[in-house]
Amino acid sequence: MTSTTHKSSVATSDLEYTVIDNKVDLGSLGYMELMDVMGNDLSIANAARVSYNKSSANFDAEKDRKLIYFLAKHKHWTPFEQNSLKFRVKCPIYIARQWMKHRCWVFNEISARYTVFTNTIYKPDEFRIQDTKNKQASLKAEDLDQETAGQVYDEAARVALEAYNRLIELGVCREQARGVLPVGSHTEFITTVNLRNYMHWYNLRAPHEAQWEIQQFAKASIKMVEQHFPIAIDCFKQLQIEAAANN
Ligand SMILES: Cc1cc2nc3c(=O)[nH]c(=O)nc-3n(C[C@H](O)[C@H](O)[C@H](O)COP(=O)(O)OP(=O)(O)OC[C@H]3O[C@@H](n4cnc5c(N)ncnc54)[C@H](O)[C@@H]3O)c2cc1C
Repeated sequence: MTSTTHKSSVATSDLEYTVIDNKVDLGSLGYMELMDVMGNDLSIANAARVSYNKSSANFDAEKDRKLIYFLAKHKHWTPFEQNSLKFRVKCPIYIARQWMKHRCWVFNEISARYTVFTNTIYKPDEFRIQDTKNKQASLKAEDLDQETAGQVYDEAARVALEAYNRLIELGVCREQARGVLPVGSHTEFITTVNLRNYMHWYNLRAPHEAQWEIQQFAKASIKMVEQHFPIAIDCFKQLQIEAAANN
């Protein structure tokens, strides 16, 4: 099957990331909540200081910032790994699948074997077109028939949900009935990661090469994480800017 050619060269705009009670609501896409945090900027500095059998009670804005920058620049990662973040996420299954490729995160996910699926199916607010230069990416559509695309999508979702509910009514077990649900169905999981691996994930999933939907989770999450680790995140960002300038 061939697809119609469309014009575009622009990326889709990002969502708003407003943090309320450690949670960012991403509308029809889902949400991300920072449930728990272990550590802060001072714990990074103190993890490094134990080498000299030293510890500080208070964060020194100048000295400790320099230390954290030094650690990140020279890839002394373990002081960052002493700090953990726990999130609750609601996202489409295909985004969860990309996320779960990251082996240094720990996941517990809602089970469609143990519970009847009552969640929603993600419907994009805006359909995008395939990027012809970067084959894995997509672009904002200037002339795509959004209305028809929306109708086709809604109809497929409706048929899938109806089939699922009918199979459950017929007495088919949940673990088989779920086979007709699309990969756009929402799932929910709790996940924990240390600060080093969080930044690794952010660096892979926030850039425009990543799928727009997972970019939204990456960019929303850093708004929450930087409230707890403002200096570390600032140092990571500074190093990224320096690396880009040197390339
Ligand atoms: C834009 C993009 C497109 C992608 N496309 C595809 C695709 O088409 N198909 C596909 O299958 N995947 C794809 N991926 C997933 C990608 O291949 C990685 O699986 C994913 O990004 C996780 O990266 P990671 O292994 O560095 O991270 P993590 O698994 O979180 O690991 C973090 C780091 O720990 C170390 N580490 C962890 N486990 C090991 C190990 N067993 N051995 C050695 N070192 C280890 C590595 O240094 C690694 O970088 C894509 C990822 C991105 C960002």
